[in-house]
Amino acid sequence: MKNPLTIYRQRILSVEKGRYLLNPEGKVKSIVVYPNYYRVGSSNLGFQSVYGILNEKRNIICDRAFLPDNDLEEWFEKKGNYLHSLDTFKPIRDFQLIFFSISFENDYLNVLKIIKYSGLDLLSNQRDENTPLIIAGGIAVSANPEPIADFIDVFLLGDAEVLLNSFCEEIIDAAGGEGKEFFLKIFKKLKGAYIPNDSINMESERKVEVKRLQNMEESSSYSRIISPLTEFSSMHLVEMSRGCASSCRFCLLGNYYGKPRMKSIDKLFEHIDSRLLYTHKIGLISCFIGRGDYINNLSKGIKERKLSASFSSIRFEDLNDEFVKLIAESGQKTVTLAPECGDESLRNKAGKQIEDDVIIKGIISLAKAGIRSIKLYFMIGFPGETTDDLKAIYKLVKKINNEGERNNLNFQIFISASSFVPKAFTPLQWSAMEDERRLKEKISLLRNLFAKINNVRFNCDLPKFAKIQALLSRGDRKVGRILQNAFSYKGDWRRAMRESDVNADYYVYRTRKKDEIFPWDFIDTGTKKSDLYAVYEKYFKN
Ligand code: SF4
Repeated sequence: MKNPLTIYRQRILSVEKGRYLLNPEGKVKSIVVYPNYYRVGSSNLGFQSVYGILNEKRNIICDRAFLPDNDLEEWFEKKGNYLHSLDTFKPIRDFQLIFFSISFENDYLNVLKIIKYSGLDLLSNQRDENTPLIIAGGIAVSANPEPIADFIDVFLLGDAEVLLNSFCEEIIDAAGGEGKEFFLKIFKKLKGAYIPNDSINMESERKVEVKRLQNMEESSSYSRIISPLTEFSSMHLVEMSRGCASSCRFCLLGNYYGKPRMKSIDKLFEHIDSRLLYTHKIGLISCFIGRGDYINNLSKGIKERKLSASFSSIRFEDLNDEFVKLIAESGQKTVTLAPECGDESLRNKAGKQIEDDVIIKGIISLAKAGIRSIKLYFMIGFPGETTDDLKAIYKLVKKINNEGERNNLNFQIFISASSFVPKAFTPLQWSAMEDERRLKEKISLLRNLFAKINNVRFNCDLPKFAKIQALLSRGDRKVGRILQNAFSYKGDWRRAMRESDVNADYYVYRTRKKDEIFPWDFIDTGTKKSDLYAVYEKYFKN
């Protein structure tokens, strides 16, 4: 019987464009792994960037691997069947360095699966000198690596360009055959690297500083591989800015990435042009948008190249006439916006200073410009949220819908409700998460309300997954034991929590005291904990 991995690989490689030709001769052999399916991982800008950054260095090659598709799982249960890389089809455990790119806490379980499918021991202290060094980076682990720390050798905290450039400079003279200890020593010297097996005293002054790319001209964040088998089908993703001009009190992205910085128009189009041969469909990734000349030049460049462009998520504050025109002219079909709360004062408390009128006006202007599909993100379960606050979500959407009808506009509204998950390094990191049962009741209330409006489709995440995310977002190293249980019980988290000696609810449903020492306190993002606490207090005051 043909190896199912070969068939899987052929299916993917036969339609991809932009792959590097990897010649491992005399070079350090690394692999970047995304802990989810190919379709998801290849749509992730962080993953694509690491693949590019490493392969563009002369002393290292970087292959790729993903969580194998569902139907292959059984095959890996059989002895002797190991996960192989995509480009050179080598066993994962034959690489010197394995880089995991991890954006979401709920993928931690997949990290464990991949380590196991590679024929390696799960726990880092059980893997010997002859095994690869396992490194992890990405926003989820950069904020709090502790719940997954027992399984990883090194964490890289911050922006990949800075960290990987420094690392590659250090290994400039490394022969292809260097071992784990050699690389570990280099990481120990590197700012922004956290080695969990080197104990850190949480109360000491010694901190691991998050490394940030300040100059966006040095950004390397764009897709290298273009494939129709990705979530956005043959779309070239290009980062337009980093950080966010807002810092909503619940948002990790807005609070972790530092001050907002834009890529220049020249740099942006240099990255876009690098893949024009393969696609004219681009996705511009940004939390905010420039104004005036920036928009004009962006619009000009898009038209000149006959691109079809989409903007990832858009702030209401940025929806001025010129930007709305650009969105419509670029061929974007669906616009995603995030009011987060229906009630204006709760929205303000959550850190979004936008009035209802601005929301309604923004959506109507998009519909007038020809956008037929509006996706609205709301968050439920904020501290102190009442039933009236939930009804306010319905009322706001109803107003938008009525305003659309009054203007004879034809557009569909898609509502997506997700549960508030308190995250490390945000002002709401001291908050308890809403109880799972109560979240389900809230969802059911919203579902019933929205069933009354024909033009609205309602969708939500499952509170049970939000609870796992909350556990892994603010857990300490002991939470790794629940994670390992969940792996042993093949993803049965309820059983994993029930049978663990570690109490999951303690991490999820507990309001923290002001002076509690957090598992992530050894990380220095540049923001003082006392400043975050002052904002936390404000949430409850106004
Ligand atoms: S929720 Fe959106 S607007 Fe607010 S800080 Fe996060 S990315 Fe920025």
